[in-house]
Amino acid sequence: MPLALGSFHPSCSHHDDTASARPRFRRNRANPPAVMLMLFTSGPLRWRSTPVQDVGPLPVRTPAPDRPAVFIGQDGTLVDDLPYNTDPALLRFKPDAVDALKALSAEGFALLVVTHQSGLARGYVTRSQFARLQGALEARLREAGVVLLDSLVCPHAPAPDGRPSCLCRKPAPGLLVRAARRHGIDLVRSWMVGHTLDDIEAGHRAGCRTLLLGGDAAESPRLTPLRHPDARCDGWDAVAQRITPMPAEPPAT
Ligand SMILES: [Zn+2]
Repeated sequence: MPLALGSFHPSCSHHDDTASARPRFRRNRANPPAVMLMLFTSGPLRWRSTPVQDVGPLPVRTPAPDRPAVFIGQDGTLVDDLPYNTDPALLRFKPDAVDALKALSAEGFALLVVTHQSGLARGYVTRSQFARLQGALEARLREAGVVLLDSLVCPHAPAPDGRPSCLCRKPAPGLLVRAARRHGIDLVRSWMVGHTLDDIEAGHRAGCRTLLLGGDAAESPRLTPLRHPDARCDGWDAVAQRITPMPAEPPAT
């Protein structure tokens, strides 16, 4: 069989012991199985056999970002942090959080929760348990007059050394960027509110201003600029006063 395949190459004409007497194409015509084998094993046909994968619809984009938002961390920022909690009855909002969200909404900010839920990847929480918990949180906010535009979730676990293993776990900005593309959010006029320096870094990496809630995060002169918050508040009661909307257009000179 290699002899037949090689006969198509000019440098392999020595395989044909009668090459000087016969044109090469006659040898090819005389060996049709070899020709067919080459055609069916060559690139294009093999490539066509690759199954086509459905990657789903492309993300919806709005024409231009035109609204400011406040991105809010969930566990430890908006509600008490109970690791891997699955019971909606245990949800406790931080003091003054709901009133602050109402005030921010009245100022024209869209409100979005951005949260890690590595319990999903670790198998501690099922998707249905998490959906029930998140539904209860949104329902309780709605009853209080606060509507969340969206909740964005990183379901991945970090790497063994604690570093993010995906592009959506804070301090990576993936959740904020995805939300901006989905909802037409102007990140420059938006804020990230969180209680950890990873929240702050994610907000800065997305292009937002940032507010660190609570005094627990360590002060360190070695903090990179990305982890320096633009504002600090001890509690939610001061957040709405600290966050002010930026004008959509620069003032005329
Ligand atoms: Zn992730």
